[in-house]
Amino acid sequence: MSSAKYIFVTGGVTSSLGKGIISASLAKLLQARGYRVTIQKLDPYINVDPGTLNPYEHGECYVTDDGAETDLDLGHYERFLNVPTSKANNVTTGSIYQTVINKERAGDYLGKTVQVIPHITDEIKRRIQLLGNTGEYDIVITEIGGTVGDIESLPFIESIRQLIWELGNTNTAVIHLTLLPYLSVTGELKTKPTQHSVKMLLEYGVQPDILVCRSSQPVSMEIKRKIAQFCNVNINAVIESLDASSIYDVPIMMLKEQLDKVVLNNLKLPSRQEPNLDNWKVFLGKLKNPIREVRIGLVGKYIELHDAYKSIIEALVHGGAINECRVRIAWIHSESIDEKNVEEKLKGLDGVLVAPGFGDRGIEGKITAIRYIRENNIPFIGICLGMQCAVIEFARSVLGMKGAHSTEIEPQTKYPVIDLMAGQKGVTDKGGTMRLGKYICSLTKGSKAASIYSKLRIGERHRHRYEFNNKYIKKFQDAGMIASGINPESGLVEVIELKNHPWFIGVQFHPEYRSTVENPHPLFVKFIKASMEH
Ligand code: GLN
Repeated sequence: MSSAKYIFVTGGVTSSLGKGIISASLAKLLQARGYRVTIQKLDPYINVDPGTLNPYEHGECYVTDDGAETDLDLGHYERFLNVPTSKANNVTTGSIYQTVINKERAGDYLGKTVQVIPHITDEIKRRIQLLGNTGEYDIVITEIGGTVGDIESLPFIESIRQLIWELGNTNTAVIHLTLLPYLSVTGELKTKPTQHSVKMLLEYGVQPDILVCRSSQPVSMEIKRKIAQFCNVNINAVIESLDASSIYDVPIMMLKEQLDKVVLNNLKLPSRQEPNLDNWKVFLGKLKNPIREVRIGLVGKYIELHDAYKSIIEALVHGGAINECRVRIAWIHSESIDEKNVEEKLKGLDGVLVAPGFGDRGIEGKITAIRYIRENNIPFIGICLGMQCAVIEFARSVLGMKGAHSTEIEPQTKYPVIDLMAGQKGVTDKGGTMRLGKYICSLTKGSKAASIYSKLRIGERHRHRYEFNNKYIKKFQDAGMIASGINPESGLVEVIELKNHPWFIGVQFHPEYRSTVENPHPLFVKFIKASMEH
């Protein structure tokens, strides 16, 4: 049996209450008390992973070092804890069923009827304990996606019930996150939805230990007492969670509410030390008291849903804070940009980021924006597809390769400056088959990239099928676009930069996944700095 303790975080009343941020904030506090903590997300959908989902569905697909395509909450976990997550940190119903069905086909259950209980629930319990069993963590926080009462998350709740019974009350704790709606007409916070949602959990045999109550108004002692009484919890286990102006305030708010202490008490763990949040507070201080401001254009095709660019937004926040600079994002739809309006759209911006993406929608808008940026010396960072567009633009405008393109968009292009990677040819399955996760990259001595990173060997995370076509590398370099980062094993181009431009960098990888509060990513830090100087 594992020695780790398990905390389960469920949600009630409505979705989008911020279970991910509460889980990450609690983890931060426990970590700051000296515990080794990790967070895992259980997602109820049947996709094996979110890699095949359109960002409009659930926002960005986050990628781990070990190449898992995961829910964006894992990004919050890493940004708060500054500890990498892995494949084991995101479990979907699809992946559970896939394992069970593969075992059934292999004959592992020969003779038996394979059922939700016990086979699916056993696999869920195994996945929950995988992280705890590594011995690397004292505490594993498992966030259950969806809202209690959803048909699809029932097996997860049942698995929690069984685990609590198997591991015992002092080795497990259940936190239920709910909403206290405020009725402005009567000026009251209402507790009934919370009572109902706890009742629903009880129907499934799970008694929450702690209630975190999202609220727009302060929660009085009287209301806390009422909730405690009707939901069978200690009054100090009713935690107020007010709307915050920044997600990074939440750990401090939870500290004030003593969420961490209540949890430790539940798990019969010592408080150890007062949480050391010195670095966090320095970051918050800078974030809240900027002395400068920049306007950064974010050019993408999913801008109606900002969650599609979650890690990019947060990396800009981190990069801004360390520079004591507020970053205002100007959201620019790539489909809305054309030759005629590009100046009007981009004029006055201090820097522009061209976002990752797939497919042809909005691609010409991105290329047009990059031409303007290049010609007008505006600081630029292109990420993945954004980098590829910079290559296409340079080929067309500077190298005279009319119609140059990526074969993703234009398979018959005369100048395939971006082409399918060799290893991708013949790949037909879409799920989990891209070039994913961390790869090493060597930076060229004396390049801008090398000076940004202050080192020559870096590791960054990837998610793509297409790549700079090395056939053209000499032409590009001779004309001033340098391949300043190369994967040493495959020779794939990972970074491009312009010689005659103050700050123009394209990266095939996704630096945004690695930016954390305590380790803001150098590319973002320096991009903001360059934008401040522009
Ligand atoms: N669609 C491009 C590729 O597959 C870029 C992917 C991305 O931006 N993540 O290479």
